[in-house]
Amino acid sequence: MKEKMGTTGLIFNEPLLWEKGSPGRMGVSLPRRDVDEAPLDPALVGDGPDFPDLSELDVVRHFTKLSQWNFGVDSGMYPLGSCTMKYNPKTNERQASLPGFAGAHPLLPEGLSQGLLALMHDLAADLGEITGLPAVTLQPAAGSQGELTGMLIFSAYHKHKGRPRSKVLIPDTAHGTNPASAALCGFKAVAVQSGPKGILQPETVASLMDADTAGIMITNPNTLGLFEDNIRQVAAIVHAKGGLVYGDGANMNAIMGVVNVGDLGVDVLHLNLHKTFSTPHGGGGPGAGAVCVNRELEPFLPVPRVVKDGEGFHLDENHPLSVGKVHAFYGNVAS
Ligand SMILES: *Cc1c(COP(=O)(O)O)cnc(C)c1O
Repeated sequence: MKEKMGTTGLIFNEPLLWEKGSPGRMGVSLPRRDVDEAPLDPALVGDGPDFPDLSELDVVRHFTKLSQWNFGVDSGMYPLGSCTMKYNPKTNERQASLPGFAGAHPLLPEGLSQGLLALMHDLAADLGEITGLPAVTLQPAAGSQGELTGMLIFSAYHKHKGRPRSKVLIPDTAHGTNPASAALCGFKAVAVQSGPKGILQPETVASLMDADTAGIMITNPNTLGLFEDNIRQVAAIVHAKGGLVYGDGANMNAIMGVVNVGDLGVDVLHLNLHKTFSTPHGGGGPGAGAVCVNRELEPFLPVPRVVKDGEGFHLDENHPLSVGKVHAFYGNVAS
């Protein structure tokens, strides 16, 4: 591979092991044989595997070089959008890789997973408290999948009310995943022009909001870094027409602990736990996009849900209005 702009410090010139090998090189010394040499059965092995002949050092140096392509906090900063807003302390990565988490098998019976279920239950409760939206799923594996879950909930809610809707309002400052998530759920994304101050103007929203619009997706603070001052008025306009308000919480660390998002009029919110909080974030994924909703929308959350039952915890699948599963098992446990 040629060295390109932006690759300074990374060693990308490493041939394949087959190009490094040379016939006759050996990586191991085997003890003296105490049985007679016999040819391999060609019916079983054909011409034999095409392994390169390499010395031990060839192999060690090859894989050590590849390991240097791994990018992390020790080699530079991570230049991916909002994810740069946080730095994961290494100790948190270490906690996430404790055998109880990293080795948790998704098919373990509930009785053997009580610690993990307790943690998921309490984390969901804490996120509900932080956001003011008390019902929480940890299943989505990214913010964008949280948006998709939110749009599925919008769709299920309106269908349940007996009047499905076809459009979703999305400000022109939104992250590209917002219209993509709405479109994936079959909604038409309608762009809302922001005003001269770079935030939403209630009159613009009022002119677009109608009885065929499922709701609006608002990022707050928005992508320009501005707090949506009119969010309460905007939410009131959308609610008055029977719509819902989705909050894109990717920039939540600017307002966490200061603003109760439920009080702003948001009905569904995703949190990017790998941005605002401190969950592992490896090269674009996996992440965690917890989704928090108000009590009215709770029945639509994905299943299974972790519930506390006396002193124990168990997984509850019995939610007939649920949008279903959005991830295998319970989501990305490392997150
Ligand atoms: C990062 C981001 C997303 C998407 O979240 P992922 O976890 O990367 O899928 C959505 N909206 C905004 C504003 C973001 O910054």
